[in-house]
Amino acid sequence: MIPVPFLKGKRVLVMGLGKSGTATALALLASGAGVMAWDDGEAARKAGAEAGIPIRDPALIPLEKADLVVWSPGIAHTHPQPHPIAERVKAANVPLVCDVELLALAKAGARTLAVTGTNGKSTTTTLLTHVLDECGIPAAAGGNLGTAALDLPELPGDGRYVLELSSYQLELTHSLKLGVAILLNITPDHLGRHGGMNGYIAAKRRVFDFLTPGGAAVIGVDDGPCRSIAAELSRLGTRVLKVSVEQVLPEGYSAPDGVLHEHGKPVCDLKDIESLPGRHNWQNACAVFAAARAEGLSPKQIAAALATYPGLGHRQELVGSDHGINWINDSKATNADAVEKALVCYDHVYWILGGQAKEGGIASLEKHFGRVEHAFLIGEATETFAATLEGKVRFTRCGTLENAVAAARNLAVSDSIDGAVVLLSPACASWDQFKSFEHRGDTFRELVQAFTEGGDA
Ligand code: ADP
Repeated sequence: MIPVPFLKGKRVLVMGLGKSGTATALALLASGAGVMAWDDGEAARKAGAEAGIPIRDPALIPLEKADLVVWSPGIAHTHPQPHPIAERVKAANVPLVCDVELLALAKAGARTLAVTGTNGKSTTTTLLTHVLDECGIPAAAGGNLGTAALDLPELPGDGRYVLELSSYQLELTHSLKLGVAILLNITPDHLGRHGGMNGYIAAKRRVFDFLTPGGAAVIGVDDGPCRSIAAELSRLGTRVLKVSVEQVLPEGYSAPDGVLHEHGKPVCDLKDIESLPGRHNWQNACAVFAAARAEGLSPKQIAAALATYPGLGHRQELVGSDHGINWINDSKATNADAVEKALVCYDHVYWILGGQAKEGGIASLEKHFGRVEHAFLIGEATETFAATLEGKVRFTRCGTLENAVAAARNLAVSDSIDGAVVLLSPACASWDQFKSFEHRGDTFRELVQAFTEGGDA
């Protein structure tokens, strides 16, 4: 836990009691602040009270009396509709921040690196932390992924905090000081919360406002919004390290064919790293390479560390092998865009998909249907997906993940195709049958390991 002693005796309202709000309330209490906390969900309030957090309904509090409001980034405070309490907080002129701001104030002297982007944040954050650690630099990852900002450990003086930052967190942060800021990519996402694409781009661009003098801006330049930001920062004299997986950059870090180039010279082959499959992961690896170089590490050290990255669960995670068939857990792929990243990595796919359908479905994946040997449909989306696949891909209605795993195993083993994979990449939310994408992926892993590790293969 990171203490926040500068808030001792202050009255702080904590809005939202998920992982970050709960960690914040507990850090504030431990530091002697006067905490009032609230969550619109009854279960979260109950869990908060059980953890010893004072619950107060902000509707009944004169907010002018608060010194600070720590807002959970998931709660809308501007678009599409501000939460009524956010409007009252603004009218009362009380500072509105998220937990990352408290970390920034508490650890003002610590070397901090940040990662943002529409896709690839968690992979890049954990990969960078892994590389630093492997090279003898103590590092801790947190923020939007895994560990909440104020649950991060105290690090020694030479340690690095590596923060994954969402656009929501960036909007509610003011005092960060970054040695390296990474912006991987920008594609339309969360537009409702930012009042449109311009608002979303502006929130992402904020990550560079926090660079300290001489700090490095690592930017993927394969999309228009990021290219414009890179050009603007270069004009302003910021140290920009460009990343591309579309072309070899004479200046910057690139890997269009999987071979990572530094300033046009080949350095290491990313295709050999099983935990980083696909071009999207090469973009993440290039960004990490650039950031680690900015931190003073040598190409050789970084290349060796990249090769030992264990991978992140639920993102094309290899969970078992059986009869020469690899079983891949890509449960995090909840929409067609994410599924495409995985499908293009394999030539003979036994594809398990379905769940709670999202807008757009899987029609955009048709160009990759030739890679699919057979599809196994589960959950609510079954009939919608069956209609898209009809006449193009052979499929079976399986109902549950358990049935799908059994059916995929039978067919893949009997087909016995070289290089076959069974891929859980659902293109759907998980909530019709599971608590979360993690729960879905963990269930898949257990089902697979029952025969890959159970000895009945
Ligand atoms: P985030 O934290 O931004 O959601 P993750 O690292 O958790 O990103 O990856 C989630 C999914 O996004 C992956 O399973 C993959 O499908 C896709 N992805 C990962 N990296 C990239 C990237 N650089 N560009 C585009 N898509 C990516």
